[in-house]
Amino acid sequence: MAMQGRELPLCDNHAHTNPVIGMGPRELARRFKREGGRFIVIVALLTWSLGLTPGGDLDSVRRMYDITVESARIINEEGVKSVAVVGLHPAEGYELLRRGWSREEVLDFMRRGIDLAAEYVREGKAVGIGEVGRPHWEVPGDVTNLFNELLEYAFGVAKDVNAIVHLHLERNGIDTALSIINMVKRVGNRPYSVIMHHAEPVTIDMASNNGIMPSIPMGRRGRV
Ligand SMILES: [Zn+2]
Repeated sequence: MAMQGRELPLCDNHAHTNPVIGMGPRELARRFKREGGRFIVIVALLTWSLGLTPGGDLDSVRRMYDITVESARIINEEGVKSVAVVGLHPAEGYELLRRGWSREEVLDFMRRGIDLAAEYVREGKAVGIGEVGRPHWEVPGDVTNLFNELLEYAFGVAKDVNAIVHLHLERNGIDTALSIINMVKRVGNRPYSVIMHHAEPVTIDMASNNGIMPSIPMGRRGRV
Protein backbone atom coordinates (compact mmCIF):
# COMPACT_ATOMS: atom_id res chain seq x y z
CA MET A 1 0.00 0.00 0.00
CA ALA A 2 1.34 3.46 -0.84
CA MET A 3 0.40 6.47 1.22
CA GLN A 4 1.73 9.79 -0.02
CA GLY A 5 4.89 8.09 -1.21
CA ARG A 6 5.31 6.28 2.08
CA GLU A 7 4.72 2.58 2.42
CA LEU A 8 2.29 1.38 5.01
CA PRO A 9 3.67 -2.01 5.97
CA LEU A 10 1.14 -4.79 6.31
CA CYS A 11 1.62 -6.65 9.58
CA ASP A 12 -0.25 -9.32 11.46
CA ASN A 13 0.31 -9.04 15.19
CA HIS A 14 -1.42 -12.30 16.05
CA ALA A 15 -1.45 -15.31 13.75
CA HIS A 16 -1.56 -19.06 14.13
CA THR A 17 -0.17 -21.59 11.72
CA ASN A 18 -0.69 -25.29 11.99
CA PRO A 19 1.92 -27.36 10.19
CA VAL A 20 0.20 -30.57 11.35
CA ILE A 21 -3.35 -30.22 10.00
CA GLY A 22 -3.49 -26.78 8.40
CA MET A 23 -1.56 -24.40 6.19
CA GLY A 24 2.06 -24.58 7.25
CA PRO A 25 4.22 -21.52 7.92
CA ARG A 26 5.97 -21.56 4.55
CA GLU A 27 2.74 -21.34 2.57
CA LEU A 28 1.39 -18.75 5.00
CA ALA A 29 4.51 -16.62 4.54
CA ARG A 30 4.39 -16.88 0.75
CA ARG A 31 0.72 -15.86 0.57
CA PHE A 32 1.24 -13.07 3.10
CA LYS A 33 4.28 -11.74 1.23
CA ARG A 34 2.40 -11.79 -2.07
CA GLU A 35 -0.17 -9.45 -0.47
CA GLY A 36 2.54 -7.09 0.73
CA GLY A 37 2.91 -8.56 4.22
CA ARG A 38 6.06 -7.72 6.12
CA PHE A 39 5.74 -8.94 9.67
CA ILE A 40 3.86 -11.73 11.48
CA VAL A 41 3.69 -12.63 15.14
CA ILE A 42 3.16 -16.39 15.45
CA VAL A 43 1.29 -17.40 18.59
CA ALA A 44 1.23 -20.91 20.07
CA LEU A 45 -1.83 -23.07 19.42
CA LEU A 46 -3.36 -25.77 21.63
CA THR A 47 -1.54 -29.05 22.22
CA TRP A 48 -4.36 -31.16 20.80
CA SER A 49 -4.69 -29.02 17.68
CA LEU A 50 -1.15 -30.21 16.91
CA GLY A 51 -2.01 -33.84 17.67
CA LEU A 52 -0.30 -33.64 21.08
CA THR A 53 -1.72 -34.79 24.41
CA PRO A 54 -2.67 -32.10 26.95
CA GLY A 55 -1.30 -32.42 30.48
CA GLY A 56 1.23 -35.04 31.49
CA ASP A 57 4.77 -33.77 31.87
CA LEU A 58 5.75 -30.68 29.91
CA ASP A 59 6.84 -32.64 26.83
CA SER A 60 3.75 -31.75 24.78
CA VAL A 61 4.03 -28.12 25.82
CA ARG A 62 7.70 -27.98 24.89
CA ARG A 63 6.93 -29.60 21.53
CA MET A 64 4.16 -27.03 20.90
CA TYR A 65 6.48 -24.14 21.77
CA ASP A 66 9.20 -25.59 19.52
CA ILE A 67 6.73 -25.84 16.61
CA THR A 68 5.79 -22.17 17.16
CA VAL A 69 9.44 -21.06 17.22
CA GLU A 70 10.24 -23.18 14.16
CA SER A 71 7.26 -21.70 12.29
CA ALA A 72 8.55 -18.17 12.92
CA ARG A 73 12.00 -19.25 11.72
CA ILE A 74 10.56 -20.64 8.46
CA ILE A 75 8.56 -17.45 7.87
CA ASN A 76 11.75 -15.39 8.30
CA GLU A 77 13.40 -17.69 5.78
CA GLU A 78 10.68 -16.71 3.30
CA GLY A 79 11.56 -13.05 3.68
CA VAL A 80 8.78 -12.05 6.08
CA LYS A 81 9.90 -10.86 9.49
CA SER A 82 8.45 -13.05 12.21
CA VAL A 83 8.69 -13.58 15.97
CA ALA A 84 7.17 -16.21 18.26
CA VAL A 85 4.89 -15.90 21.28
CA VAL A 86 4.56 -19.05 23.40
CA GLY A 87 2.30 -19.92 26.29
CA LEU A 88 -0.68 -21.91 27.47
CA HIS A 89 -4.11 -20.89 26.25
CA PRO A 90 -6.90 -20.90 28.87
CA ALA A 91 -8.58 -23.74 26.95
CA GLU A 92 -5.54 -25.86 27.80
CA GLY A 93 -6.13 -25.48 31.55
CA TYR A 94 -9.87 -25.80 31.14
CA GLU A 95 -9.44 -29.10 29.34
CA LEU A 96 -7.44 -30.46 32.29
CA LEU A 97 -10.18 -29.40 34.72
CA ARG A 98 -12.69 -31.11 32.47
CA ARG A 99 -10.60 -34.28 32.64
CA GLY A 100 -10.84 -34.26 36.42
CA TRP A 101 -7.59 -32.51 37.43
CA SER A 102 -7.82 -30.66 40.72
CA ARG A 103 -7.54 -26.90 40.90
CA GLU A 104 -4.05 -27.23 42.46
CA GLU A 105 -2.86 -29.64 39.76
CA VAL A 106 -4.04 -27.32 37.01
CA LEU A 107 -2.47 -24.27 38.67
CA ASP A 108 0.84 -26.08 39.04
CA PHE A 109 0.87 -27.37 35.47
CA MET A 110 -0.11 -24.04 33.94
CA ARG A 111 2.44 -22.15 36.04
CA ARG A 112 5.17 -24.50 34.87
CA GLY A 113 4.00 -23.89 31.28
CA ILE A 114 4.37 -20.14 31.84
CA ASP A 115 7.81 -20.63 33.41
CA LEU A 116 8.84 -22.64 30.37
CA ALA A 117 7.60 -19.85 28.10
CA ALA A 118 9.77 -17.41 30.07
CA GLU A 119 12.74 -19.69 29.46
CA TYR A 120 12.11 -19.43 25.70
CA VAL A 121 12.04 -15.64 26.00
CA ARG A 122 15.22 -15.60 28.06
CA GLU A 123 16.93 -17.77 25.44
CA GLY A 124 15.79 -15.41 22.68
CA LYS A 125 13.59 -18.01 20.98
CA ALA A 126 10.37 -16.09 21.68
CA VAL A 127 9.49 -12.46 22.40
CA GLY A 128 6.38 -12.99 24.44
CA ILE A 129 4.05 -15.11 26.52
CA GLY A 130 0.64 -16.05 25.13
CA GLU A 131 -1.91 -16.53 24.64
CA VAL A 132 -2.85 -16.53 28.28
CA GLY A 133 -6.03 -15.30 29.89
CA ARG A 134 -9.54 -16.37 30.68
CA PRO A 135 -12.04 -18.59 28.85
CA HIS A 136 -14.23 -16.61 26.44
CA TRP A 137 -17.10 -18.99 27.18
CA GLU A 138 -19.28 -19.07 30.30
CA VAL A 139 -17.52 -20.70 33.29
CA PRO A 140 -18.25 -20.82 37.06
CA GLY A 141 -16.76 -18.08 39.23
CA ASP A 142 -14.12 -20.32 40.83
CA VAL A 143 -12.82 -21.23 37.37
CA THR A 144 -12.55 -17.53 36.51
CA ASN A 145 -10.62 -17.02 39.75
CA LEU A 146 -8.20 -19.78 38.85
CA PHE A 147 -7.46 -18.17 35.49
CA ASN A 148 -7.10 -14.74 37.10
CA GLU A 149 -4.52 -16.20 39.45
CA LEU A 150 -2.64 -17.63 36.47
CA LEU A 151 -2.95 -14.39 34.56
CA GLU A 152 -1.42 -12.39 37.38
CA TYR A 153 1.34 -14.97 37.61
CA ALA A 154 1.97 -14.66 33.84
CA PHE A 155 2.15 -10.85 34.10
CA GLY A 156 4.74 -11.14 36.88
CA VAL A 157 6.86 -13.62 34.94
CA ALA A 158 6.59 -11.51 31.77
CA LYS A 159 7.73 -8.45 33.67
CA ASP A 160 10.76 -10.34 35.00
CA VAL A 161 11.95 -11.40 31.54
CA ASN A 162 10.73 -8.28 29.73
CA ALA A 163 8.27 -10.20 27.58
CA ILE A 164 5.16 -8.98 25.85
CA VAL A 165 1.89 -10.75 26.72
CA HIS A 166 -0.88 -11.78 24.32
CA LEU A 167 -4.24 -12.07 26.02
CA HIS A 168 -7.22 -14.25 25.30
CA LEU A 169 -10.29 -12.96 27.14
CA GLU A 170 -14.05 -13.04 27.47
CA ARG A 171 -15.88 -10.18 25.76
CA ASN A 172 -17.49 -8.28 28.59
CA GLY A 173 -16.67 -4.83 27.29
CA ILE A 174 -15.52 -2.26 29.81
CA ASP A 175 -15.44 -4.81 32.67
CA THR A 176 -12.98 -6.98 30.78
CA ALA A 177 -10.75 -4.01 29.95
CA LEU A 178 -10.86 -2.68 33.52
CA SER A 179 -9.88 -5.99 35.08
CA ILE A 180 -6.79 -6.15 32.85
CA ILE A 181 -5.87 -2.49 33.38
CA ASN A 182 -6.00 -2.97 37.16
CA MET A 183 -4.04 -6.19 37.15
CA VAL A 184 -1.32 -4.79 34.89
CA LYS A 185 -1.07 -1.69 37.10
CA ARG A 186 -0.73 -3.86 40.19
CA VAL A 187 2.01 -6.01 38.64
CA GLY A 188 3.75 -3.10 36.91
CA ASN A 189 4.28 -4.34 33.37
CA ARG A 190 5.85 -1.97 30.87
CA PRO A 191 3.23 0.22 29.09
CA TYR A 192 1.89 -1.34 25.88
CA SER A 193 3.65 -4.64 26.51
CA VAL A 194 0.28 -6.29 27.17
CA ILE A 195 -1.81 -6.90 24.07
CA MET A 196 -5.53 -7.36 24.44
CA HIS A 197 -6.39 -9.43 21.39
CA HIS A 198 -10.00 -9.62 20.18
CA ALA A 199 -10.59 -6.24 21.84
CA GLU A 200 -14.14 -4.96 21.53
CA PRO A 201 -14.51 -1.52 19.93
CA VAL A 202 -16.01 -0.08 23.15
CA THR A 203 -12.79 -0.89 25.06
CA ILE A 204 -10.24 0.51 22.62
CA ASP A 205 -9.91 4.06 23.97
CA MET A 206 -9.94 2.95 27.57
CA ALA A 207 -7.30 0.29 26.98
CA SER A 208 -4.94 2.45 24.97
CA ASN A 209 -5.28 5.38 27.39
CA ASN A 210 -4.14 3.04 30.14
CA GLY A 211 -1.09 1.49 28.52
CA ILE A 212 -2.81 -1.63 27.20
CA MET A 213 -2.49 -2.35 23.48
CA PRO A 214 -5.84 -3.26 21.90
CA SER A 215 -5.81 -5.48 18.86
CA ILE A 216 -8.69 -6.44 16.57
CA PRO A 217 -8.84 -9.48 14.29
CA MET A 218 -9.48 -8.60 10.63
CA GLY A 219 -11.04 -11.95 9.99
CA ARG A 220 -11.12 -15.25 11.67
CA ARG A 221 -12.14 -18.83 11.56
CA GLY A 222 -12.64 -20.29 14.99
CA ARG A 223 -11.76 -18.41 18.12
CA VAL A 224 -8.22 -19.06 19.20
ZN1 LIG B 1 -5.11 -16.48 18.92
